[in-house]
Amino acid sequence: MPELPEVETVRIGLQRFLPGRAIQAVDFDWPKGFPNASGDVTAFLVGARVTAVRRRAKVLLIDLSTDYTLVCHLKMTGQMVFVGAERFGAGHPSESLIGKLPDKTTRVTLRFADGSHLFFNDQRKFGWMRLLPTVQVPELDFFKKVGPEPLADDFTHTLFVQRLQRRGKTSIKAALLDQTVLAGVGNIYADESLWGAKINPATKVADVPAAKLKTLFTELQYVLRLAIEKGGSTDKNYVNAEGKKGSYMSFARVFRREGQDCPRHPGTAIIKTRVAGRGTHTCPKCQPLAKT
Ligand SMILES: [Zn+2]
Repeated sequence: MPELPEVETVRIGLQRFLPGRAIQAVDFDWPKGFPNASGDVTAFLVGARVTAVRRRAKVLLIDLSTDYTLVCHLKMTGQMVFVGAERFGAGHPSESLIGKLPDKTTRVTLRFADGSHLFFNDQRKFGWMRLLPTVQVPELDFFKKVGPEPLADDFTHTLFVQRLQRRGKTSIKAALLDQTVLAGVGNIYADESLWGAKINPATKVADVPAAKLKTLFTELQYVLRLAIEKGGSTDKNYVNAEGKKGSYMSFARVFRREGQDCPRHPGTAIIKTRVAGRGTHTCPKCQPLAKT
């Protein structure tokens, strides 16, 4: 499942290539992945220009000159590939990022007036693209419930603590993963930031000292920014905007490193346990469970 940095990597690439291009035609082979009335498609998508590509949580928003927005959810295996004079592909790692398109995973194809194409590929068919009036996008049930963006300029340490305290009785890891508390944080960045702040993931939110929550805030923003800079986290065949493989996993300090030494404690191995129903990576020395 892509997390915030992976979807942001897709957004950054599409924002470079799509704005200004006019959509000439759309093809789709999977109606559930493109649940739009044909009248709306003809009136508001075909002929429209892309004005911007935004992201909210793990959802991409392709804004159009018709004041409609194509809301795109990549889900488990979605990816976006732009093919024009240059090529850009990001999202789920598969050969389709670099192969000839469309292929058997292509669900939606947007053809632009200049002959370039955007391919929405999705092996497992859970993803979708929905055309909506731009003003209605914030009214989607999902957007009404989702928490604030952890990298927004107005997202402060105080707000971070307030959001976590809404889940005072749950583990700190479960609170970080709760999309109504914060948007876009998943398993990788929860584990990495908790190791950074030396907090045991099973600690109840209410039992985490204030100073540690402050460190966690800094660490979370650090790992998210680092991952975006490195082009997302996927460790297999991943190609980002510049055709480079995403390299964050090689920078991960605990995630999927069980059995290897903690970077702070040579001789102490990272262990894998289960917290909040998810595989969880910790250093037993850095992150002992606090006595309560
Ligand atoms: Zn350690």
